[in-house]
Amino acid sequence: MSPLPPEHRESVFSDLLSEAGHLEDRLMALDDVPLLLVYTHLTEDESFLREYAPHIKGAWAFEVEDVPELKRRLCKALVATFRDYADSGRPLPPAPAPDLLQRMCDASVGTKVPSEYMPMVLEELNFDRTDAKTVKWRQQPSPEVLENFMVVVIGAGYSGLAMAAKLKDAGIPFTVIEKNPDVGGTWFENTYPGVAVDTPNHFYSYSFRVKPDWEHYFATGDEIIDYIRTCYHEMGVADHMRFEEEVVSAVWDNDSALWHVTVRRKDGSQYRIDANAVVSATGLLNRPAIPDFPGMETFKGPIFHSARWDHSVDLAGKTVVQVGTGASGMQLGPKVAEVAGKLTIFQRSPHWARYNPLLYAQVSDAVKWGLANVPYYNKWYRFQLLWATSDLVLPTLKKDPDWPEHETSLNAANKAIREQLVEHIRKQLNGDEELIAKVIPKFPPYGKRMLRDSNWYSALTRDNVELVAGTVERITESGVVDRDGVEHPADVIILATGFKAQAPLFPMEVIGTNGSIRDHWGEDNPRAHLGITVPEFPNFFILYGPGTNGGHGGSAVYNSECQVRYTMQALREIIERGGGAVDVRKEPFEAYQKLVDDEHARLVWTHPGVNNWYRNKAGRVVTNSPWPLSKYRNLTAEFDPSEYDITPAPSSAEAGETA
Ligand code: NAP
Repeated sequence: MSPLPPEHRESVFSDLLSEAGHLEDRLMALDDVPLLLVYTHLTEDESFLREYAPHIKGAWAFEVEDVPELKRRLCKALVATFRDYADSGRPLPPAPAPDLLQRMCDASVGTKVPSEYMPMVLEELNFDRTDAKTVKWRQQPSPEVLENFMVVVIGAGYSGLAMAAKLKDAGIPFTVIEKNPDVGGTWFENTYPGVAVDTPNHFYSYSFRVKPDWEHYFATGDEIIDYIRTCYHEMGVADHMRFEEEVVSAVWDNDSALWHVTVRRKDGSQYRIDANAVVSATGLLNRPAIPDFPGMETFKGPIFHSARWDHSVDLAGKTVVQVGTGASGMQLGPKVAEVAGKLTIFQRSPHWARYNPLLYAQVSDAVKWGLANVPYYNKWYRFQLLWATSDLVLPTLKKDPDWPEHETSLNAANKAIREQLVEHIRKQLNGDEELIAKVIPKFPPYGKRMLRDSNWYSALTRDNVELVAGTVERITESGVVDRDGVEHPADVIILATGFKAQAPLFPMEVIGTNGSIRDHWGEDNPRAHLGITVPEFPNFFILYGPGTNGGHGGSAVYNSECQVRYTMQALREIIERGGGAVDVRKEPFEAYQKLVDDEHARLVWTHPGVNNWYRNKAGRVVTNSPWPLSKYRNLTAEFDPSEYDITPAPSSAEAGETA
């Protein structure tokens, strides 16, 4: 079991003080800002906040100036504060009062945090332990009503497991169907060398299962999957899981108000579950996009996609061709280069990548101790990350219609980011002008997903690495031909070519009251109300659905927790009415699509100079949320029944299973 968070331990202050003379030194090893916020929170004394403010230049720990004398005084004051709490037996304070909270947030990240952000901060950090993200019954349903209800969840990745945890807490019967033999979704499937998160894991993790002892700030794939497995075991949902089974179709039956969900077992046989509601948690990036290069079938060696890594292929000393330089390509390329004899990388178009000194840093034992033992330290650290990785950036992604350099940047702040990125590239590539010209994108920063420099640029300077600009012309028996007709020999070809992100739910057949979801969405135009519900698909909920991917940053886990809460509220609405169906009405649905599209028109992903996987063939951004996290949180915080047609349960409907 994970240890109790410090806020839940009665003896927290006396335990800390038993560190005796070492406590002050132990605190000195922690980050300044979370310590500062803990002190201000516990004492309501703002003097340190004021003293520190000029030294805090941004929300990342490395953006705080080194002020050892000030920090020493802060740590001394903290020890005295802990003693005071221990002696007086006072409980920890609740959340800071609104004005103080605002001042703490502003000072701690070196900029004004919009006031709309505060409800989200309070809820996420849960100081009052009200666990506002958990949906509670307004009228406890009878056991019979609950017993007769059934939810099918499709997928056991981050989102599906969050849904499972909340269904279990509420006592709603459910079954999770997972095509893989284990939990983890994308983190189960992506095992390429170098796979790791590029959102800090202290934030890219469940708010209801905070882990203080991460080994890294940006966890490796192994560490993330371990975390997901641990959560899964602690959630106690194993009895609800069906692994190595795949949902083939879900067909709505109006008469019974049930979904007929057809599931295929590993042996190919099928069975049917009749469920009151279906929650799709199939993810966005799980169906590899395999290009159809001429001659591909003639290649004699192994060829595989980054998300289907063939671990039986030993790359040591081999001549490898990598196609694609997106998030996966940038992580795996430098690792492959370390072992391959030669690595040729095909870059159809360059991506931007930001440097972060914490990317490969290990969390010290001292910091792990602080996260596990100093009350509220973990929470304030999470706040810093929430801000650093999310909405801080969004205003810089808005097009300024009067901006003269609109081809390469969007506004002054975006240009400043561009200049930082270019400077970093120049430094890394040691004045190799030809290479520099190849890798600097013409489009504004963030036009495609902003990547992290995972030693990418330094890998490009290796003697055994060659970067080929442009796409693949064709593939031969023994190599890959570039646009100039030059053949690059290959023993192995790696396709880091991304995913079919514009056809969510594929290849499932989902049929609502008026036809298939494919007819509603066409080939590549998925749309959903708040990214979650679709008219004429009653009681069908999508997690990480259309228009919910965080293009500017943030954490997919955060967004999916918002969607889980909304879905739980919808289920509460249905169950408390004794069953039946909720079907989003077309007016609010269309109004929301218009809001989303209008906002996207102002943002970088519709910039004419960018090609990205966010837009469909018609140029509409279909995958990304245009909203700050706080706005998406506010939009989804309350399920609004007036936006739905609600029909009562037919008298004879019965959920269940047939062979
Ligand atoms: P991606 O970003 O779509 O990148 C695909 C790459 O393949 C691009 O460089 C693309 O070129 C190239 N490509 C695609 N088709 C091609 C073709 N026919 N010929 C030549 N080149 C072709 O895919 P990804 O790298 O797998 O990443 C997808 C998403 O997964 C990311 O944006 C991110 O959301 C997520 N991801 C996250 C992490 C992480 O958090 N650590 C890691 C991996 C992936 P163009 O750029 O010209 O299209």
